[in-house]
Amino acid sequence: MVHGGAGALDNIKDNKTALRYLESIRRILEHGREIMVLGGSALQAVEACASLLEDDPVFNAGCGSVLNENCKVEMDAAIIDGRDLSAGAVAAVDNIANPVQLARLVMTESEHVMLISEGAMRFADHCGMSRVPEDYFFTPERIEQLHQARQQHKMMLDHDDSEVDSEERKYGTIGAIARDPGGNLAAATSTGGIVNKRMGRVGDSPIVGAGVYADNETCAVSATGFGEDFMRSVISKTISDFIYMKGMDAVQATEAGIQYLTRKVRGRGGVIVIDQDGTCSSGFTTKKMIHGWIEKGGEANCRF
Ligand code: ASP
Repeated sequence: MVHGGAGALDNIKDNKTALRYLESIRRILEHGREIMVLGGSALQAVEACASLLEDDPVFNAGCGSVLNENCKVEMDAAIIDGRDLSAGAVAAVDNIANPVQLARLVMTESEHVMLISEGAMRFADHCGMSRVPEDYFFTPERIEQLHQARQQHKMMLDHDDSEVDSEERKYGTIGAIARDPGGNLAAATSTGGIVNKRMGRVGDSPIVGAGVYADNETCAVSATGFGEDFMRSVISKTISDFIYMKGMDAVQATEAGIQYLTRKVRGRGGVIVIDQDGTCSSGFTTKKMIHGWIEKGGEANCRF
């Protein structure tokens, strides 16, 4: 399963734009399945899918990341392996094309779970990861979107539900989750965060248990929405706990999780979930969430 952000998505009002999103999601889902058909693990599939989503400028991650209050990109990403809960995360990084790949290196090449900012960038250099120039991220749309958020003196989700200028709210945080034929689960989430966020603000996406979680005994989860809501409710781990402690399946746990998110913090956003049996589920409190799933056989299912 993959997602490309939650929100109003009011900009997607013509078929051409809708098809552009759905086509990207479909292509990436097929690529992820192919990796597992060829013997790759769920972890490899989610890293590859998240990287491709980061490379597509329509999404708020990697090259399409939104801008902070200083007109800078600061990206967060995490990846987790449900086999042994090994995880890697980076926060407030810039000049990296694929933060999810840096997160994977933190997981495999360091003794830590999370590195941030300058320390994460030094680690990227140490691992031989090349830096991309600042203008790799700057699109006229992103600059205009920041300008609008500043005029409103607010921060906003890439696809904000509240009306400022929905025309420009057309990108979203990304996530990928997978179950491979061996029953292994994995999850990855990557984001540019929230438009006009404070410098140094870290959202839920790189926080294990908030924006991302995977445990072979329960499920894999990736979240999107206002990170502060997801951090306070530890939503991804909460959904996993519904499965572990209450014996729910993915569909029931997603519903229970969304209810909890709403009741506790009036959370704005959504989640995608796959349980240990391979049941796929999604839930959101916003008007829409771009997401899709693909199984061993058959076509990809993509929707808003
Ligand atoms: N969850 C992300 C954050 O708060 C934003 C998003 O999902 O669009 O940084």
